[in-house]
Amino acid sequence: MINNHSETMSQSDTRATVLALYPEDSREAAALLKQAVPLMVRHNIPPNPVHYALWYTYSKGQEPELNRHLDRVVNDFDYFPPESATKLFREYIIRDELADARAGQQDAINLVDDMERDVSRSVKGNQKFQASLGQYLQMLEEPASERLPSILTQLQKSTQLMQGQQEHFLAQLQSAQREIKSLRDKLERAQLAATLDGLTELLNRTTFNRKLEQAMNDAANGVALVMLDIDHFKQFNDQYGHHLGDRVLQHVAQVLRDSLPEEAFAARYGGEEFCVVLRNCVDLSAACAFAEKLRQKVQSLRVKARGTDTVLDTITASFGVAQVQAADTPESLLTRADDALYQAKRNGRNQVRR
Ligand code: GH3
Ligand code: MG
Ligand code: MG
Repeated sequence: MINNHSETMSQSDTRATVLALYPEDSREAAALLKQAVPLMVRHNIPPNPVHYALWYTYSKGQEPELNRHLDRVVNDFDYFPPESATKLFREYIIRDELADARAGQQDAINLVDDMERDVSRSVKGNQKFQASLGQYLQMLEEPASERLPSILTQLQKSTQLMQGQQEHFLAQLQSAQREIKSLRDKLERAQLAATLDGLTELLNRTTFNRKLEQAMNDAANGVALVMLDIDHFKQFNDQYGHHLGDRVLQHVAQVLRDSLPEEAFAARYGGEEFCVVLRNCVDLSAACAFAEKLRQKVQSLRVKARGTDTVLDTITASFGVAQVQAADTPESLLTRADDALYQAKRNGRNQVRR
């Protein structure tokens, strides 16, 4: 993801962004805090400012995505992992993944302002030059031709001055063009990065949820969801280390990318959990057949020691599949796929369930 957020977003920008999230007056704020604190007590969450901000926002309920995330975290863990709190705080409260994009926009605005100043300076220079040219021409028409050499010298001087100004302006224009191009590239990269998961470069969860909702809204044909979770991954990490674990996640992501049918999309939904949405998927069996192919491909990955051909291990994943039905919301669809995935785990893992 994007680094050095604090360098690119000024403190006052951050403050303004954060404050804009909390327009409540003190009575409303107190009411929200009264809801937030009992929740924190119930879930055994240490009362620090980051947690206050998260649970206050949770009580406000205007960030459904954050609420689902927090619900999930307190469900999955019997404590509240500090790294989750920091991550959620950055994602939903500071929203700093877009800081680079904002800073880039501001840079572009500043640049355009600078250029405008340069242009008007150069236009003024031009006008002055035109005016003095007129003056000299008039002088030339005067009969006192003994002044001719001095007039010509002056004319030459101001022409040189003008030329210098024009050259300077041209150089500035060229450097501004280069800078604008690099800013545009940077902005595009930042916008793209904000939609992707940093490790696997699949869609991140936020983008996935948005696209799933879209797919369900404009689905003329069937939409199916495949959810997969790597089996015993904690054990894998414990045995081989997080670094190799990360590489496995990248390889699984590549399997998904390589297998996607047209108009399908894949996301990293959580730590070692992935989702694929299939569009134009006529029935649940077709989606299960697709999941089964994925399962086999994951199973046939060989985890090798770096730079060698020595096979250290293999991995497997469990799959839950669900097809969109008339009354489904994204949440109900996700829940059905999650339930099926849970069945696959309970039944011995490395299998597809619907
Ligand atoms: P199960 O078969 O029931 O899914 O067991 P599991 O061990 O895979 O599941 P559990 O939920 O107990 O543990 C998930 C593990 O995934 C724990 C965590 O260390 C690992 N994990 C999550 N995100 C990452 C990551 O970004 N990199 C690495 N290397 N590991 C991760
Ligand atoms: Mg797992
Ligand atoms: Mg998991």
